[in-house]
Amino acid sequence: MKERIWLSLARMGGHEQAFVQEAFDTNWVVPLGPNVDGFEKDLESFLGEDRQVVALSSGTAALHLGLLLLGVEAGDEVICQSFTFAASANPISYLGAKPVFVDSEADTWNMDPALLEAAICDRKAKTGKYPKAIIPVHLYGMPTQMEEIMEVASRYNIPVLEDAAEALGSTLNGQACGTLGDLGVLSFNGNKMITTSGGGALICRTKAQAEKAKFYATQARDQAAHYEHSQIGYNYRMSNICAGVGRGQMFILKDNIARRQAIHKQYQQWLTGIPGLQVMDRPSEAFDSNFWLSCLTIDPEQAGFSREDLRLVLDAQQIESRPLWKPMHLQPVFAGAPVYERGVSEQLFELGLCLPSGPVLTDADVERVVKTILEFCAVHQGV
Ligand SMILES: *Cc1c(COP(=O)(O)O)cnc(C)c1O
Repeated sequence: MKERIWLSLARMGGHEQAFVQEAFDTNWVVPLGPNVDGFEKDLESFLGEDRQVVALSSGTAALHLGLLLLGVEAGDEVICQSFTFAASANPISYLGAKPVFVDSEADTWNMDPALLEAAICDRKAKTGKYPKAIIPVHLYGMPTQMEEIMEVASRYNIPVLEDAAEALGSTLNGQACGTLGDLGVLSFNGNKMITTSGGGALICRTKAQAEKAKFYATQARDQAAHYEHSQIGYNYRMSNICAGVGRGQMFILKDNIARRQAIHKQYQQWLTGIPGLQVMDRPSEAFDSNFWLSCLTIDPEQAGFSREDLRLVLDAQQIESRPLWKPMHLQPVFAGAPVYERGVSEQLFELGLCLPSGPVLTDADVERVVKTILEFCAVHQGV
């Protein structure tokens, strides 16, 4: 039996256990502690732009606190990219606010700036109010057209919460994803660019924002010797143990990025020119994706087989692949939410497949994936 090739497994670099051990040795087995401070500093220097990073228990928690900091309240509308993982949109509902979904454009697969503007104007016309925040996503690591998004957002004075959960190490015009919006979000879940076994971060522009995020993340405790509370808080801070893993992972972040980009290049080299297959690529040099996941779209008429046909063949050969994200406006849980779309994300969901992309993949693994795809093409295309 062949060993299974997985979509996106975490890789340990060897420095993680030392930081965790130190936490044990110094009795810092708690939320907060030196590893949390150290991990935040590491991320700040990696991202640049003089940002303040707050380490949290998950990317979802970071999105939740981000919306809170931007003043989102029950009854408000928040615009969210429809083509994404549910975690981008769920925190809108946590706050009792209402998601409004906007489709993607075909170049980056992320929020369409023209549709965003149309949505903003239509919400104002229909409800008398502007949406309270905008959540664009750098899906699969590909930078969103943030220049255009920020321009539209500033025209209507709406803050932007940038979901960079999949985009640690991606840059747009040389600037790190996560630092492009008013606030940014990272995830360190097991399948992301680096792992803390589960964790996330909120990227802030000011120290005051970061302090506020930490306040809400630790049960909103007021200044007093006893426990005094004047606001609802959360238990969202990252633990010192998890942050130790994160500090260790920072040693291999650049390696992980280079490896995922190299895997993407291999898929591109081997699969370009095959009828009906298209490996997702960046629209220009300015969009420097970490290629968290390499994605493929399959035009069944040209290819002679569908996305699902290929997925099942790969699976039978012990290779995990996965359909692209199902758009939020098609999810039962968000039925009835307003949506502004032109069919782009629906088509991507129908035609697209994520290929194994983790840094643990060997060249031989990638070859096995490519060979399986090429053999399947040969059968259907008679070449
Ligand atoms: C993973 C992910 C999140 C959530 O991060 P968690 O750390 O798993 O809570 C949010 N948005 C996107 C686009 C993601 O891929």
